[in-house]
Amino acid sequence: AAKQRGKAGYVRFLPGMAEPVLAHMRLGGELRRALDQDELEVVYQPIVALDTGRVVGVESLVRWNHPERGLVMPGDFIPAAERTGLIADLGRFVLDRTCRQLAAWLAEFGPAAPGHAGVNVSARQLHDPGFVAHVLATLDGHGLTSDRLVLELTESAVLRGSQVSRTLHDLDQAGVRLALDDFGTGESSLSLLRAFPTAIVKLDKSFVDGIEIDDADAAARDARQAVARAVVQLAGALGLEAVAEGIESEAQAEQLRALGYCFGQGYHLSRPLSATALTTLLSSRQRALTGG
Ligand code: C2E
Ligand code: MG
Ligand code: MG
Ligand code: MG
Repeated sequence: AAKQRGKAGYVRFLPGMAEPVLAHMRLGGELRRALDQDELEVVYQPIVALDTGRVVGVESLVRWNHPERGLVMPGDFIPAAERTGLIADLGRFVLDRTCRQLAAWLAEFGPAAPGHAGVNVSARQLHDPGFVAHVLATLDGHGLTSDRLVLELTESAVLRGSQVSRTLHDLDQAGVRLALDDFGTGESSLSLLRAFPTAIVKLDKSFVDGIEIDDADAAARDARQAVARAVVQLAGALGLEAVAEGIESEAQAEQLRALGYCFGQGYHLSRPLSATALTTLLSSRQRALTGG
């Protein structure tokens, strides 16, 4: 980056160029601190059976409780974590925290616990030849079998590369399931299905938005319904599970059920919850079931 020492020893920045670099460096440093000082938190969004409302699984989503800026969402720091390489440590943190929490829920709630946890994974992690061994060691360290973990990947994370193919193949062989996140938004969603051992497709929220509207924009609604139907049928034909993302109303849930979706996720079903809040929810469900 273009920076020069001024006469008085100040670092001078060229307008419009160096400032983002500075912001980027600062963010990197702060992220390092966040990891070291336990400012990161994992929240869990229920993945729900659309017929019974049962919490079949959770997706882990990272949050940063910044001492000055307050709650920072992943969209505002995951890209920086990827660029600086801190995503490796961040990813290990999220995986470990998630496995520890899932093991605790399974111990406390047995069959009423979420059956699996989904963890989002970035491209850089898949390029690490030690990734699979690390994942399996983490599961093992928490007494979890590999079927308890789903790794969520986006198209950009997968792309090409023989190390990535090997990683994904080895994970599949070990029994860790792979989910294609934001499905339908990429340019080559279909060829990816063939290129790596997918178990789950997650229909992107953009195909769920407006899927239920009755009058306003009928053509757009019909197009979204067509995509949603095609994805669930494709999943069925290939023996994959389909999960609809970003469900914000009962009308949407109903439409997705009608199209053949068994599983969904979204604010209407539950917001992402802290571990404590989800524990409370699971407890109250269990009490309701046992009549206690
Ligand atoms: P994603 O994996 O597609 O996660 C779903 C996002 O949609 C989450 O945003 C979730 O809070 C949000 N969401 C869920 N239901 C609804 C809904 O009904 N309406 C709306 N408007 N939004 C909904 P979040 O937590 O901000 O995460 C954004 C993205 O950041 C994630 O998208 C994922 O790609 C990435 N991410 C989150 N945690 C991690 C992580 O630990 N590691 C990595 N590598 N990426 C992560
Ligand atoms: Mg995801
Ligand atoms: Mg998604
Ligand atoms: Mg997304």
